[in-house]
Amino acid sequence: MANKTKPIYGGIEGGGTKFVCAVGTGPEDIRAEIRFETTTPKETMAQVVNFFKLQETNFGKLASIGFACFGPLDPNPASSTYGYILPTPKPGWTNANVVGILRSAFDIPIAFDTDVNGAALGEWRWGNGQGLNTFIYLTIGTGIGGGAYVEGKLLHGLLHPEMGHIPLPHDKTKDPFGGVCPFHADCFEGLASGVAIEKRWAQRGSALPPDHPAWDLEVEYISYALATYAYTLSPQRIILGGGVGQLPHLLPRIQKRMRDLIHGYIQSPAILENIENYIVHPGLGNLSGVLGALALAQQALPEN
Ligand code: ZN
Repeated sequence: MANKTKPIYGGIEGGGTKFVCAVGTGPEDIRAEIRFETTTPKETMAQVVNFFKLQETNFGKLASIGFACFGPLDPNPASSTYGYILPTPKPGWTNANVVGILRSAFDIPIAFDTDVNGAALGEWRWGNGQGLNTFIYLTIGTGIGGGAYVEGKLLHGLLHPEMGHIPLPHDKTKDPFGGVCPFHADCFEGLASGVAIEKRWAQRGSALPPDHPAWDLEVEYISYALATYAYTLSPQRIILGGGVGQLPHLLPRIQKRMRDLIHGYIQSPAILENIENYIVHPGLGNLSGVLGALALAQQALPEN
């Protein structure tokens, strides 16, 4: 019998405030992990490279690396700016060729996608997206973003979906707050992100009790957004992650309000009778991101 060693992958969850890198084969087998603050691209990517080089001395050559990164970014391998961060308010990161840095250090397949597409793929492989062919993963935390797995693959289209920036009904009598998005002011992220909550109430969301009026607004905005995604992408499930998205007291309220907003128009038992299994939290919890990066790495190999 051939004694083939299981390939070991590298995964990078590149966030706007922190990076998480791991090596392993899946959720049950993370061999090493590191977290550090996101600083400049040069310094941050040097830490990534050093970590993987060190792990290669422990575990041997990595089979591939998956990089699930904050955006906007260019995920199109045919584009001249593939692997770049696109113009971003984050200082120093505009046009950073992050994949180029990895490529000059590692001669192995490198997969690059948005953090939320990565998380969606991780949920599909090991979490609450298993067995589905069309679903979305939405994170509501400091910012808001969504990844989409559609008809069996991650959706990119023109660049990649920007689910956090959809316009929403904004009743200024109920919510006079103008919003925080530098591009659109009161888009979904502008109204409902962790940053918006903190600015509107002058307190962090984590300090607000479940009966605070902040959560009435939050339920309303999230439910509108989820209804929009249900209409447009027809997902079989919506996975709601992130620090705000995973608050246990919000989930039942969002399930009920989203179903009420749809008002019977989507005639599926998944929504009409089984909403508890339609809008769910991530099966991988807070590890969706870094495990998603490992799933991207795994997918970058031809045999997967
Ligand atoms: Zn926006």
